[in-house]
Amino acid sequence: MDIWARSGPPQPIFPWKEREYPLITGSDIAGEVAELGSKVQSWAVGDRVVVYSGLSCGSCDYCLQGEQSMCPHYSILGEHTQGGFAEYVVVPAHNLQKIEDTLDFVPAAAIPAGFTTGWRLVVTAGQVRAGDDVLVLAAGGSVGVAAMQIARAAGGRVFAGASTEEKRRRAVEAGAAAAVDQATAFSQWVLDQTDGRGVDIVVDSLGMTWPESIRSLAHGGRLVCCGATLGNRPSFDIRELYQRHRSIVGAPMGNRSEFNRVVRLVEKGTLTPIIDSVFPLDGLADAHRRVDSRQFFGKVVVAV
Ligand SMILES: [Zn+2]
Repeated sequence: MDIWARSGPPQPIFPWKEREYPLITGSDIAGEVAELGSKVQSWAVGDRVVVYSGLSCGSCDYCLQGEQSMCPHYSILGEHTQGGFAEYVVVPAHNLQKIEDTLDFVPAAAIPAGFTTGWRLVVTAGQVRAGDDVLVLAAGGSVGVAAMQIARAAGGRVFAGASTEEKRRRAVEAGAAAAVDQATAFSQWVLDQTDGRGVDIVVDSLGMTWPESIRSLAHGGRLVCCGATLGNRPSFDIRELYQRHRSIVGAPMGNRSEFNRVVRLVEKGTLTPIIDSVFPLDGLADAHRRVDSRQFFGKVVVAV
């Protein structure tokens, strides 16, 4: 998201508004309340918080249902507004979520986008149940890491797809039953792993892998999608979808309630952010290079 906020998506598919620069990016934010707006009552200076990055109108049908990320006026802190790569950031008070003293700011900052989206994909869109098999592609990304943990916490068995040997090793270390090179025709591997049945859910944020992801699904399985980082025009036979009762669900980001839930589960230790690396604020360009390199596993964090 930070790379896109800086440079725009490679192939814009929905109305894309050119940024006004300079822009301070950074959507995943944790820190201490330093100052309060004149009408803010329920917070105090010094409160330790993590920030829900979605900005929404608060009064449309979707917002009233608690589906902030479906709001027609939805925007994202640090993408459409000035964000968190700074010593101070202004955010709406109702986007704050208190965190316990035992949760450090570095892991707290690794929660919002990755774990909220991971929850949305696996639980809300994917309808995971105990005993489900779940294939997570891009397993080393922040959504992938979160999706694997959430699927396992829900009683699922996880298979991972990743682009390098090292990431596949890390994915298995992080709890995947087995890992596959996602650049290959992996559906046969998935069928072999599942006695020919296929998986109940595929988490696919790559896009161009859809044909193989769809073939990897069991009858009635769900492909859940929050991105298309390898390309957004895959070609597949729709008969492979409907004849086996398979479905595709888009879920770009979770709502506030899902965010609150993953924060609580991190505090309880059920979910654990994996930190790839921590850069100082004046090393921000290096942090971007690290993300651009796709060599990371987990979250790249910038500490002020
Ligand atoms: Zn709204």
